[in-house]
Amino acid sequence: MMTTQAVAGSWPDGKRAAVVLTYDDALVSQLDIAIPALDAAGLKGTFFLIGSKIAPEQVARWRSAAAEGHELGNHTIRHACPQANYPPAKKIDTSETYDVDTMLTEIRTMNTMLTAIDGKLQHSYATPCGQHLAGGVDYLPALRASGLVRYTRAADPTEHPLDPMDVPARFFPSNATGADLIAAVQDAESKGGMIVFGFHGVGGDYLSVSAQAHAQLLAYLKAHADTIWVAPFSTVIEYATTHSSH
Ligand SMILES: [Zn+2]
Repeated sequence: MMTTQAVAGSWPDGKRAAVVLTYDDALVSQLDIAIPALDAAGLKGTFFLIGSKIAPEQVARWRSAAAEGHELGNHTIRHACPQANYPPAKKIDTSETYDVDTMLTEIRTMNTMLTAIDGKLQHSYATPCGQHLAGGVDYLPALRASGLVRYTRAADPTEHPLDPMDVPARFFPSNATGADLIAAVQDAESKGGMIVFGFHGVGGDYLSVSAQAHAQLLAYLKAHADTIWVAPFSTVIEYATTHSSH
């Protein structure tokens, strides 16, 4: 095991930091704003899709995003989280109504849906609400044992020795500026480490960052492509776990 800092100097082509851009919940603003911005900058992101949120007419758009090199990831079918993560009035899709087998079956089924879209046999995973409880039981041990996914993104920014099934991520408030996002990259650069960004809406939908702040981040990453490695989640975590000095 290693910390993200311990891989300093070991990113591909001598790059100083790795940056992963992840986008959750299969939101339309990601199709309309985030992906065109990534494409214009020549950068690849990772999109953790919720199966129940993909409208039939959006399937072709996600498929073409995958064909362009963006990663599609598994964010379950119903995004079940503990009731405490939702407004009190919400009574459906809470993970209290699940058990571990139900949750793993849902993750397996979502993998199959993603394979139907992008043709790939392996998909990474992001925990809904950063939680891994089903009926009050932690399902992460069973998910690890299942082999259904090799890499899992959390929603907690706390750094710890790299665990490919519990990778920290940073989310930013809606008033975050481009400078705020860039400062997080510069922090990773100064440590020789990695930062995994978590986004929801971009210039729309909810929990959004502005399209301008997002564009400023991408412009910074493009301008520093000689020293910063930007790649999809699975690509970076696979590299980090196979190039450890330990
Ligand atoms: Zn989510």
